[in-house]
Amino acid sequence: MWTRYHIQCNSCDKTTNLRIQIPERKELPVSYICLGCSSEIKATLTVNFTNFTWNFTVERGNLVKGDFDGGDYFYEYSDTLSTKKPASNTLYKQFGYLA
Ligand SMILES: [Zn+2]
Repeated sequence: MWTRYHIQCNSCDKTTNLRIQIPERKELPVSYICLGCSSEIKATLTVNFTNFTWNFTVERGNLVKGDFDGGDYFYEYSDTLSTKKPASNTLYKQFGYLA
């Protein structure tokens, strides 16, 4: 199962559309380098397996509301599947990745 968050960089205000897989463990730390300014973005996804809810906390960056395919960049993250590096959102749209 996957979910999606939009994280705005504190340094350059660019937003990354983060598609993230709900992990099979309680805590999944996420960090990546902002494509706009090379700052590190950090967040943690915590899962409560008792009632299967999850919580997403951004430690470095701002969690913002965004359209499903919005944002300046796109990044897919999973702790079990191999994923690509962050890339321009336009590129992903071009290949129909977000369709
Ligand atoms: Zn940035």
